[in-house]
Amino acid sequence: MGFVVNAPLWRDATVPFEIDPEIRDFYTSTAFAAANPGVTVESTRMIEQAIANWNEGASIKLRPRQGESHYLKFKRGPKGNGGQTRATNSGEAEITFDYEWSLGANWTIALRAMMHEIGHAVGLIHEHQRPDREQFIGFNVPTANNGNLQLITNGRPVGAYDCHSIMHYIPRGQPPDIFSKPGGCTGFGRLNDPHLSAGDFAALRYLYPPRLVVDVSPIGVPSQARTYNFRVTSADNGQGVAGASLKLSNGSTNMTSQSTTFVADGQGYASQALTLRYIRRTTVRGRQREVELVAPSIEVSKSGFTSISIPLLVEM
Ligand SMILES: [Zn+2]
Repeated sequence: MGFVVNAPLWRDATVPFEIDPEIRDFYTSTAFAAANPGVTVESTRMIEQAIANWNEGASIKLRPRQGESHYLKFKRGPKGNGGQTRATNSGEAEITFDYEWSLGANWTIALRAMMHEIGHAVGLIHEHQRPDREQFIGFNVPTANNGNLQLITNGRPVGAYDCHSIMHYIPRGQPPDIFSKPGGCTGFGRLNDPHLSAGDFAALRYLYPPRLVVDVSPIGVPSQARTYNFRVTSADNGQGVAGASLKLSNGSTNMTSQSTTFVADGQGYASQALTLRYIRRTTVRGRQREVELVAPSIEVSKSGFTSISIPLLVEM
């Protein structure tokens, strides 16, 4: 499934990013065009595609930086640099990449490499460096002093070993540097297949558990029926919200209890209008009949998520 660092790197499961203007400036320069006739380099589009592929299903979201002090910067790397990441939990994290070299060779291989680097930036470690790899793969090259191949003992393996993780190296060379042991990996990913595995997303859900956040506007509960808009968000473009159910309750039998199931709108949240009706509790004391407004609570739940319960204020 995955191999992750010991603590999440990003607060609120959000990665503010920026793309160094030098990338765009360099590749659109006449100097580059003159030196690379016929090569169409679309570096920023490739970065955006890699980001979109993660954002589509991950419990973490990359979005343009808005002044945050902890952010991820995409930079132009030295010649022959097929991707290198400095992951941090503060300040500037960075991914460097030689876009000219990588994209000149193969757009989809470069895209896969970029997705792999983003994996590092959010806290994923090479799958083939898991302590349990010996059951699955072997090497034809020395691994002991190679920072990208040696065993890592201080990470957290999550779930089963995932031969198809974007974080698993793919065999190269002849004889191949990495090979599958019998009954080990039933295949590896392919270099030109920019594909995130179910395990990649699951590992991120482990590191950044999906959360639901409820935003009710207006917040007050009236003494008469009124329709409210409930917005529920999740850190995965709202996909985590799909199927979440919301229930209003106040433990009182004369409240109209309502439930609904949310449909994600792809904008990072899902919304649903519900009508709150009279929420009153009647108590009879002797000959006195007391009517009071009772603050209900809304509860949003979904399997796999921590359910949340929010008391609503009563408008008097
Ligand atoms: Zn790597």
